[in-house]
Amino acid sequence: MDIQEIVSRQKAFFKTQQTKNIKFRKMYLEKLRDIIVNNENLLYEAINKDFGKSKFDTFTTEISFVLNDINYYLKNLNSLSKPKKVRTNLVNQIGTSKIHPEPLGCVLVIGAWNYPYQLSLSPMIAALAAGNCCILKPSEIAENTMKAMSKLINDNFPPEYLYVYEGGIDETTELLRISFDKIFFTGSTKVGKIVYKAAAENLTPVVLELGGKSPAIVTKDADLEVAAKRIVWGKFLNAGQTCVAPDYLLVEETVQEQFLEMLRKYITEFKYTADSEQYTRIINLKNFDRLVQLIRQDKIYFGGNYDAEKLHIEPTILHPVEWEDDVMQEEIFGPILPVMGFTNFNLVLNTILELEKPLAAYLFTRNSEEKEAFTSKLSFGGGCINDVVMHLGNERLPFGGVGASGIGNYHGTYGFEAFSHQKAILEKTTWGEPDIKYPPYSEKKLSWIRKLM
Ligand code: NAD
Repeated sequence: MDIQEIVSRQKAFFKTQQTKNIKFRKMYLEKLRDIIVNNENLLYEAINKDFGKSKFDTFTTEISFVLNDINYYLKNLNSLSKPKKVRTNLVNQIGTSKIHPEPLGCVLVIGAWNYPYQLSLSPMIAALAAGNCCILKPSEIAENTMKAMSKLINDNFPPEYLYVYEGGIDETTELLRISFDKIFFTGSTKVGKIVYKAAAENLTPVVLELGGKSPAIVTKDADLEVAAKRIVWGKFLNAGQTCVAPDYLLVEETVQEQFLEMLRKYITEFKYTADSEQYTRIINLKNFDRLVQLIRQDKIYFGGNYDAEKLHIEPTILHPVEWEDDVMQEEIFGPILPVMGFTNFNLVLNTILELEKPLAAYLFTRNSEEKEAFTSKLSFGGGCINDVVMHLGNERLPFGGVGASGIGNYHGTYGFEAFSHQKAILEKTTWGEPDIKYPPYSEKKLSWIRKLM
């Protein structure tokens, strides 16, 4: 079926008002949960074919997120969609004021390949929970997961409600010509700009979940063992192909040597090797070649080996690195960790302030002044103090970028709001209204209005 035809059918279906029914939404969310649970193995196999991601990582970083999202909305849908009463000011008496969350209509979700299930299904689930019809376009780069999602969803959902459209740049370009009620895009800043421009043509609102270079700072007041263990995990998880992975590391010089040793120790302990089932491959040769170019032989502190046939790059630490080095010019999005030393914490914050606002930032310290300066001075999407990546795991926190790292956010309540319009309604009684706003005007009426307003 032609995609334009499917979108037209979704728009017509939305107008039947069926998706506004909470029972309808819950029924399909439950159905989706059953489909995922009953086909878990198929999902694991597809992602393993795409880039060797283990069952453990797929469950902890993808499937569990998606199931949690469904359960969150099933549990909270009644309260999220209920009109919220707010205070009515004096000039609007006698009346009541309410905010009615309403679905937007037919929305488009464009996913990225690095967490192909989570980044496609989580926004899609939020869209359905909020009562929309949805077209999902997963990333073609993770081809097997794209096909698995399209089969499971298109075989089980009516296309006029939910449809997965397979395809790459041509198909996305075709979709971007269609007028949607919202576009939710996850991917690179470069493509985010293309999406934003196309959306502007139709005045379509967007959420853009983009990337950037996310710093991690380790000061001499950090618990170094904990910091090293958590950074190694968060950086090399998914072979560094994580939008919120610490991109580069800034370590206070007095503890730098000691800290580098700890990083080495944990990489070895975690057994992130080419033949290890738990270490993910690089998604394709294009990205592999790009990453290998960033490994400067004279800067390798640890690792640096790679195997093009297996699309494997060892966890690699580059040190000492300068701000001018190639590896510091673009988001790395792979298992290469540049480490730089610093002597003055405030100067480091000032340097980061000069760069594009990152999607995430991390600080390891026990010093409360440093925590305060980090939180109040830097602007970034979200982050952690004394951990990395895990802020994503709390659905009560909004997830999204700021500036070059994105527009808007989602997860939990924020996902529901991202796909809702907050319709304001003031209801008045038909009695008890003073005459002062109606002509003919007078000084006396104006003086009353001044008092009331
Ligand atoms: P990408 O921008 O190449 O692709 C994302 C989507 O856009 C895909 O579905 C693709 O088909 C489509 N696309 C690609 N080129 C296009 C074009 N010219 N015109 C129209 N559509 C096009 O991103 P990616 O490689 O899948 O993901 C990597 C990037 O995404 C990184 O920068 C990463 O930081 C970012 N990312 C951000 C988040 C987040 O939640 N903020 C999550 C994951 C990845």
